[in-house]
Order: sequence, then structure tokens, then C-alpha cells
Amino acid sequence: MLKWFYPKLYISSYQLLNPDYLKQHHIKLLVCDIDNTLVPHDVADPDEAVFAFVEKMKEHGILMALVSNNVEERVKVFAKPLGIPYYPFAKKPFQKQYHQILKDFKLSRDEVAVLGDQLLTDMLGGNLAHFYTILSKPVVTRDLKWTKINRLFENLIYRLLEHKELLIRGEFDDETL
Ligand SMILES: [Mg+2]
Repeated sequence: MLKWFYPKLYISSYQLLNPDYLKQHHIKLLVCDIDNTLVPHDVADPDEAVFAFVEKMKEHGILMALVSNNVEERVKVFAKPLGIPYYPFAKKPFQKQYHQILKDFKLSRDEVAVLGDQLLTDMLGGNLAHFYTILSKPVVTRDLKWTKINRLFENLIYRLLEHKELLIRGEFDDETL
């Protein structure tokens, strides 16, 4: 049961993720969360670091898609300048949008990685889809109202994972990158 909630890779920042690591794991598409993974939820536009990250992935042939539970306007405004496909109101961890992505990109499950900051949405959804899951530390501690509720459950899951020594919060795999 707990295995559905923890990632294959746990990193302190999305910026550490590099195309070589993804290629070694036969990943062709990086499905990326926005809020608190790339920028705080109340930052509307991508910053320089996000542009640089997207450029680095593009240069090395890694495809990207932005998948968010947030509303269309927020996701569109963020995604458009980056020029990458976006999937708003994704209802993660539900699988419908992931199935759509597999169809749209014509990829198999083992060619997709999910990057996100939440266990209950990004990691659970990605693991249920049998994608490669990458958890990043939230960029800030402030959250959207509904995310705050998720975080209460998430704290409980972190405690269970720590108790079983499956995932220790703050003990990142950064050195494997
Ligand atoms: Mg998030």
C-alpha cells in the first residue's frame, strides 16, 4: 500500500535533474507539475531557471509536458511562453490525463517520468500509472487552500514511510544525479 506513495528518486530541486540521468533510465517524456515544483503557486510566470531547465531538456531531446491540478488560465499563462504542451485541471492522482498523455505522445509507460512535490497527487498518480516518479522538495512552504488539506494527509504518510524507513523527508538522492 505505502509503495504507491514514494518516489524512485527524491531530489531537493528540479534544477538538479539532468537529461543524462533521464536518458539512462530510458525516459523520453518528463511530465512536470508546476505549483511548488517549478515555482510557488502564486507566481504566475516561469522564471529564468525554469526557462533554462526547459531549454536544457529540449536540447537533449527530452520531451516535456506540464500537468497541473490547477485551473486552465494559470496553467496556460505559465506554459505558453515555454512552448510546451499543458494539461490543466488534471485531477491527479486520477489517471485519465496520464492516459491522454500516453496517447498524445505515443509513448509507453516506462518512457515517462513524473516530477512533482506532492505524495498524494504527483507520486501516487505517477506510480499508479507505472511512470518513473521523481519527488522534489516544495520550493516554498506556502500552499493553495486545497493543497493545505492534502499536506495534512501527506504528513501522516511521511510519518508512516519514515517509520518503515522507506523515505525520510529531507534525505535526498541528490548525489546520484
Ligand atoms: Mg505541486
